[in-house]
Amino acid sequence: MSDCLFCRIVRGEIPCRKVYEDDDMLAFHDINPVAPVHFMLIPKLHLDSLSVAGSGHAALLGKMLLLAPVLAKEQGLNNGFRTVINTGKGGGQEVFHLHIHIIGGGNIPPMVRRE
Ligand code: AMP
Ligand code: ZN
Repeated sequence: MSDCLFCRIVRGEIPCRKVYEDDDMLAFHDINPVAPVHFMLIPKLHLDSLSVAGSGHAALLGKMLLLAPVLAKEQGLNNGFRTVINTGKGGGQEVFHLHIHIIGGGNIPPMVRRE
């Protein structure tokens, strides 16, 4: 049994502010939001990151991507939202259980600042 933080949230051992749950997926609010709406969509299956996903995970990844806009709308993000997947130390990933950040509301600046 994994002692990964998000696996523990999936098992209910650590509380979360749940946004959505089904047999394969869980979505919950980020504990340290960077915008008025900021939640995470994760597969219940533990995958360290996008780097270790393979062709066998295509349906799961597709389900996550298709669910993201549905949940964003349910959270009131009718005007758009940002999705972020940090992958590996080089991508700034801190929790090594695959997750999509869904972020919106307020002023979302361009992600890459050009001088
Ligand atoms: P990342 O840098 O993509 O790995 O993002 C990890 C995210 O998990 C950060 O935005 C944290 O604020 C968030 N986080 C860490 N612990 C918790 C928790 N217990 N509940 C909800 N979000 C969390
Ligand atoms: Zn995990």
